[in-house]
Amino acid sequence: MSNSGLSRQADLPVRLPPRLELARLPTPLRQLQRFPGVPAGTRLWIKHDEQTGTELSGNKVRKLEFTLAEALSQGCDTLITCGGTQSNHARATAVLGARLGLSVHLILRGEKPGEADGNLLLDYLTGATVHYLPQSEWDSHETLAREIQQSLGSAGHKALFIPTGASDEVGLWGYVAACGELREDFRAASLRPDIIAVATGSGGTQSGLIAGSALFELGAGIRAFNVCDDAAWFHDKVRGDLKRWQSRYADCLPEGFDAMALPVTTVDGYVGPGYGQAEPPVYDTIAALARSEGIILDPVYTGKAFHGLLQELRHGTLRGARDVVFIHTGGLFGLFPHRGHFLFS
Ligand SMILES: *Cc1c(COP(=O)(O)O)cnc(C)c1O
Repeated sequence: MSNSGLSRQADLPVRLPPRLELARLPTPLRQLQRFPGVPAGTRLWIKHDEQTGTELSGNKVRKLEFTLAEALSQGCDTLITCGGTQSNHARATAVLGARLGLSVHLILRGEKPGEADGNLLLDYLTGATVHYLPQSEWDSHETLAREIQQSLGSAGHKALFIPTGASDEVGLWGYVAACGELREDFRAASLRPDIIAVATGSGGTQSGLIAGSALFELGAGIRAFNVCDDAAWFHDKVRGDLKRWQSRYADCLPEGFDAMALPVTTVDGYVGPGYGQAEPPVYDTIAALARSEGIILDPVYTGKAFHGLLQELRHGTLRGARDVVFIHTGGLFGLFPHRGHFLFS
């Protein structure tokens, strides 16, 4: 196992904490060529973080590079984490657990479904132990995690509890480091984007981008499209994570850097019926991008956020933006359980 994260980037404005090399990096940055929905005057670029791996595809592995380095440094042999039954984060954790020889316990929200589809299939296939907790009892998921942690502890194991989405002060580093990669991408493309857009669900990608874009001086505004909850929730979550990150890693950050002074801009209004549920126009956008560019979005995160981004570029706060980078955060496996929403002919 290597720990060569530092050597991957030479002139860093920050000192990165220990990191495992788990993601396929760098991912490509490409401009959309044929998608008909881009407003005139805007160039839309995709940062292909759906290509961070095959079974590991998506944004979670960038965070888990730091989270799992932490687990190993604490001497853990087990990982416990949580999420929806189609959680991309739970799947990435399950796959990485198997790869690193760590046991994985997943606490998933809802009832056990009749069959293991999408991400859940990979959770089972990679040997994770799955605990289902009904939606109505979800508030107690951390308590359940602590109970599992304790009972494993009395059996001689050591488990790290990773919060939803690995969105905490450790996982936050994933997208801080990704901003170093973006800086190189922008340099190579002679690009100075106005906006970096992304889906936000547990806030860790958003927080990392906010801090990273300031540290690496990307000069772009971070616009996060929430797929659940509301802008106020993300404001609190992001600021809380940034605060803990800044205080824990003060030694790694440049003198005088203040993450709490950075703007948190969440673009609310595109959640639709709720987390994991989308309106027909989102499915239409997914189909249109797939047909025109061969890029596959998912209805839970990237499809909703991308659809929201197009609306904002046409009518809203982002009208007139010239160069816009959308971070494709993955989600492919979560598309399959939504098969019934697409025309099949
Ligand atoms: C988890 C996830 C997100 C959101 O990332 P957070 O850091 O949890 O906010 C976006 N897209 C996909 C596909 C995801 O799985």
